[in-house]
Amino acid sequence: MKLDDLQVVGNQLALKWDDEHEQFIALEELRRACPCAPCAGEIDVLGQMHKGPSPQLNEASFQVARLQLVGGYAVQVFWKDNHSTGLYSFDLLRKMHSEP
Ligand SMILES: [Zn+2]
Repeated sequence: MKLDDLQVVGNQLALKWDDEHEQFIALEELRRACPCAPCAGEIDVLGQMHKGPSPQLNEASFQVARLQLVGGYAVQVFWKDNHSTGLYSFDLLRKMHSEP
């Protein structure tokens, strides 16, 4: 599964996959699903979940400065509030907002 196209349209991320499936994910939803450790929480060796204080989100947190494909399997999103540590794997993206 590969991405043919990826762009921000309004307040949504528009994805086009190589199987012709087109997908739209609201940027706010995308940001709230950020998979990086500080946002998603980390599980330590004892199996306990550690999650820092919820990051302060503001208007810029839901705006995309740029997008970068990583290694042909993930997308790195650079948010306008300078958060960019989340790598959204294609699998994760495909699972998001699958309802039309
Ligand atoms: Zn994050």
